[in-house]
Amino acid sequence: MEKVIIVGTGCAGLTAAIYTARANLSPLVLEGREPGGQLTTTTLVENFPGFPDGIDGPELIMNMHRQAEKFGARFRYGVVEAFETNEHVHRLKVDGEWLEAQAVIVASGASAKWLGLENEKKLKGHGLTSCATCDGAFYRNVPVVVVGGGDTACEEAVFLTKFASRVYLVHRRDYFRASAILADRALSNPKIEPIWNSAVVKYLPDTQGEMEGVILQNVETGETTRLDVKCVFIAIGHSPNTQPFRGLLAMDDHGYLLRSDGFRTNVPGVFAAGDVCDPVYRQAVTAAGQGCAAAMDAERYLCELECADYAQAGSEENHQPAAAAAKI
Ligand code: NAP
Repeated sequence: MEKVIIVGTGCAGLTAAIYTARANLSPLVLEGREPGGQLTTTTLVENFPGFPDGIDGPELIMNMHRQAEKFGARFRYGVVEAFETNEHVHRLKVDGEWLEAQAVIVASGASAKWLGLENEKKLKGHGLTSCATCDGAFYRNVPVVVVGGGDTACEEAVFLTKFASRVYLVHRRDYFRASAILADRALSNPKIEPIWNSAVVKYLPDTQGEMEGVILQNVETGETTRLDVKCVFIAIGHSPNTQPFRGLLAMDDHGYLLRSDGFRTNVPGVFAAGDVCDPVYRQAVTAAGQGCAAAMDAERYLCELECADYAQAGSEENHQPAAAAAKI
């Protein structure tokens, strides 16, 4: 049985790996469908303390990975399909195989949300994406659209002006939810055109299956219009990756894990860190901090388990039958 299994290799999971590895717990770290998490889809990270000139997201993740390995963390690719728990033993089904651990740190992050429109699956990678930094450079000198009104939408729209001829920023309200600095940057960029009170209601693929436009609907008047664009960037937030834990770990209405008393979930020995339990801050640095805290909570929990085992062994020894005691 493993002492600790960490689910996820974003900032939270990797920081938990560094801390548990340095505590000699030799953690097994599971890399799922999006190894490295959301930072691997970013270019420059300017707000992670310690890097005054910024650092590339993938480089930051690679550094954390190497740091965890250096102290003895072990990595394995695999998707968690199911979870079971029985007092001090937690079981994770990973690609068909059951793994057991005394402690589990869930740091499985959150994944991009989609609009759920017709043709969405087919168009992904053919003019429909949720990652401007990954795909923006493919759309040079053509018009594109970004959907959303948060920090991500504004940031991605500004980023896309480096490539696209025009960036339409479609939002269902007449104001952005984004922080003032990012909203101002987007609104003052001459290449960005906001389209307020509107929703994308249909994707328009061409005969080759590539995106050639969308149908927009004004949410107030109901009026529909066609917008010709070569790529649609969806930036409407994320959903926590908690599917395998449903029914056993306590979650809020949106599926974010609930935690209390530090980073403990409702199941003793199971801890949560990062975007999987944080719908509010969702920053690389807060995820890293939570990974550290969850690792320390897990270490303490294992220590308490061990002390309880010693105490039990000690009390059994003190109650040895007289004959056995005489033999010693
Ligand atoms: P978010 O803040 O949840 O914003 C999502 C946006 O998408 C909202 O404007 C929302 O509209 C819209 N939306 C949601 N569902 C929609 C749907 N079905 N159809 C159309 N529009 C929809 O998500 P986010 O922008 O990804 O940001 C997530 C977190 O990361 C935030 O805490 C943010 O501050 C942080 N972040 C920070 C930075 C940075 O500091 N550099 C960069 C990126 C993200 P409503 O406004 O109507 O709800």
